[in-house]
Amino acid sequence: MADNDDLKALIRTIPDFPKPGIQFRDITTLLLDAHGFAQTITRMAATTLGPIDLIAGIEARGFLFAAALARPLNAGVLLIRKDGKLPGATIAEDYALEYGIDRIAMHADALTPGKRVLLVDDLIATGGTARAALRLLRKAGAVVEQAQFLVDLPDLGGADALRSDGITVDSLIAYP
Ligand code: AMP
Repeated sequence: MADNDDLKALIRTIPDFPKPGIQFRDITTLLLDAHGFAQTITRMAATTLGPIDLIAGIEARGFLFAAALARPLNAGVLLIRKDGKLPGATIAEDYALEYGIDRIAMHADALTPGKRVLLVDDLIATGGTARAALRLLRKAGAVVEQAQFLVDLPDLGGADALRSDGITVDSLIAYP
């Protein structure tokens, strides 16, 4: 983990966004740094359990990492979006928010059963989003062995919850 302190230094913390008490880990500053972003992708690719067919990126920042990883991993990109954004027939999965529920979706024909899929997002907090994405991918018949995140907030328990769903979870950076 200490090896990635150079990348951690490129992430900015914005207090009280989007609401009081939240320390928002802003990765846009890392994206602006050509070397830092390239190193992020190189290191994520190096920890991938391969081979994989598709990288599933979660809207919106997950798309950036999924697309960049697609080249070195020689994989396609599968978009997991907020419900209502994809034009074709979709399958969807609900997940709980602090207040209320949200829904994510993917194209119903995005994969055939047995495809090996890597799940990717910028950050895992409670894990609600990533766990819903995993359920969605499994519903479609995907074989998901691993999820990767740039940032983990381990105190919120999301990565451990995702591990309890039976997959390997890796991240480059953690904030206690
Ligand atoms: P969760 O479902 O609680 O694991 O939240 C994960 C999603 O919310 C990710 O797509 C993150 O981009 C975003 N997110 C949650 N907490 C933070 C935070 N403290 N800083 C930046 N993004 C966050």
